[in-house]
Amino acid sequence: MTAETIFVGTELLLGNIVNTNAAYLAEQMAVLGFSMYYQTTVGDNAERLGGCIRQALDRSDIVLLSGGLGPTQDDITKETAAKVMGKELYLNEEAQKQIEAYFAKKGKTMAENNLKQAMMPKDAIMLENINGTAPGVIMEENGKILVLLPGPPEELSLMFERSVVPYLQSKVSQVIYSTMVKVCGMGESDVAQQLDDLIRNAGEVTVAPYAKIGEVHLRVTAKAEDEKQAKKLVKPVIKDIKARLGDAVYTTQQH
Ligand code: ATP
Ligand code: MG
Repeated sequence: MTAETIFVGTELLLGNIVNTNAAYLAEQMAVLGFSMYYQTTVGDNAERLGGCIRQALDRSDIVLLSGGLGPTQDDITKETAAKVMGKELYLNEEAQKQIEAYFAKKGKTMAENNLKQAMMPKDAIMLENINGTAPGVIMEENGKILVLLPGPPEELSLMFERSVVPYLQSKVSQVIYSTMVKVCGMGESDVAQQLDDLIRNAGEVTVAPYAKIGEVHLRVTAKAEDEKQAKKLVKPVIKDIKARLGDAVYTTQQH
């Protein structure tokens, strides 16, 4: 699955703050196995931000945004994202309770404009903010995922680890597909030598030899989003093995 990030804040564009969230999210997403193709930084401007979100949703499966979830007038990320997704905002009582509890814990009184943070786009998933007041948001539409995270790094990272990682992991249940290639009339070392590059290659298709009495079996395995994709990856590798070993390959079996 492809993913990209959008960082919202005029202060980022002016160089007033360093975009540490960019490095953090890029590293986390790579570890999770997503292909990251773009990073965008945009100011607090509804029109330009809306354009960025639209473009990102067009070309990536997952779009992560950071910043602009706060209570002030220039915090426009949620409103803009909801508009792009065609979702209305409503006052989410659970979010309101969490924000009130956060202020109570800190012994502070809640300002009226903090209620803006309890507004959620319709059908969205709310992500609790342990380190601050702005809840995060996940929206799903037409197979696309849009995730809104707060700008302050300690809020973003905790929310990402607690809520976004488990959510994304549930979305990438990959299938593993194997085919066994059976070889007769060649010794294991001979087979291993001829397929050396394929066996060493730790890419998306793995080839593992198993020595049997009088024959060698090769397990060719691919991981992909679904079986069809995995089969497509395995097929050319089997063709390659057959081309190299010739008649010694006597059968292939789905495993
Ligand atoms: P707040 O509720 O504090 O307003 P917010 O979600 O609206 O949070 P911003 O207003 O965009 O986020 O940014 C708040 C602060 O978070 C910034 O002043 C800065 O210190 C930090 N911050 C925002 N974006 C980034 C980023 N990409 N990298 C590092 N720090 C950031
Ligand atoms: Mg803000």
